[in-house]
Amino acid sequence: KFNEEQAMRKKLHNQIEEAKGNIRVFCRCRPLSKVEASNGHATVVDFSAAKDGDIGILTGSSTKKTFKFDRVYTPKDDQVDVFVDASPMVTSVLDGYNVCIFAYGQTGTGKTFTMEGTEQNRGVNYRTLEQLFKIVEERKEISTYSIFVSVLEVYNEQIRDLLATAPTTKRLEIRQASEGFHHVPGLVEAKVENTKEVWDVLQVGNNARAVGSNNVNEHSSRSHCMLCIMVRANNLITGECTKSKLWLVDLAGSERLARTEVQGERLKEAQNINRSLSALGDVISALATKSSHIPYRNSKLTHLLQDSLGGDSKTLMFLQISPSEQDLGETLSSLNFASRVRGVELGPAKKQVDTAELQKLKQMLDKAKQELRSKD
Ligand code: ADP
Ligand code: MG
Repeated sequence: KFNEEQAMRKKLHNQIEEAKGNIRVFCRCRPLSKVEASNGHATVVDFSAAKDGDIGILTGSSTKKTFKFDRVYTPKDDQVDVFVDASPMVTSVLDGYNVCIFAYGQTGTGKTFTMEGTEQNRGVNYRTLEQLFKIVEERKEISTYSIFVSVLEVYNEQIRDLLATAPTTKRLEIRQASEGFHHVPGLVEAKVENTKEVWDVLQVGNNARAVGSNNVNEHSSRSHCMLCIMVRANNLITGECTKSKLWLVDLAGSERLARTEVQGERLKEAQNINRSLSALGDVISALATKSSHIPYRNSKLTHLLQDSLGGDSKTLMFLQISPSEQDLGETLSSLNFASRVRGVELGPAKKQVDTAELQKLKQMLDKAKQELRSKD
């Protein structure tokens, strides 16, 4: 059983490696909640072909629509099942690849559960950093790494730094550095060296998220929560330097609000969510058709993700769905969105060489050589 599982993981790992540059979609369905079960809600999801990446949705008593994904998780699959599949991709940030993982879906389908998880059931964010430190330790004879984390929120098209110690009135904006990297001047980048520090940073981010909102859950379903992990790597043997970025994103709920229900502040929120999620869709469509113009700048979300979405980066989307018949409409629209995403083929992923750092190293090396020579 164990060997079989190992073999399967290896196969999956290879598939992911081969698909460098392509957008992968993993579909995860949460369990029917106790309330839904006690209210007699039926399950409309058929997992009989989940192993092949197929998910069936019962759209009528005798009609079934099938969608294909790179991986399908049933409600029985746990956080470890999910992380093991995502880990080759997240850890490739150490090898110099830009990576983006985002969770998409209606509110209540498990986006936060997948990305953040709970203290007993930790999600992708924490497990990723834990794994990165493990690999850094294993490779310490070969490479040195520095890891920095930023935690931010995009709400109503405004960036909020969740690690800022003091609230500032200055608006955070996105800038492009000369070497092409996008960054947000003034954003806190916390250097982390072990899992304890990571946990503390994530807690600070979480607590900051609650400040200023009277209903945290509602607020978080209307904003995008984004964790950015930046890695600088120095290969001590080859001298290769890379600087790369991993985005882990818990998107705002994708549900459309009934027009009559929303007005005032709510309407503005809904429009901004629509704007950024449709901007994400537009970017993906433009990538799919290999358009010469990719409209990253149409929303803060896509602008922030620019380096790690498309081009020579690796992208993974968790499509979160509900099993309940009550959510069928939203489930179908999510599945349709994801099917479009999955059709996107990009070029091969490319390492992000840090030329400035390389230059510095070369100078140091030259100086060291000169010193040695002067002693001859
Ligand atoms: P979202 O962030 O998409 O709004 P949440 O992550 O808050 O959704 O999930 C809604 C509820 O469902 C939470 O109580 C969460 O713990 C539970 N849940 C979601 N996915 C799973 C899962 N795979 N297994 C068990 N519980 C889950
Ligand atoms: Mg959530």
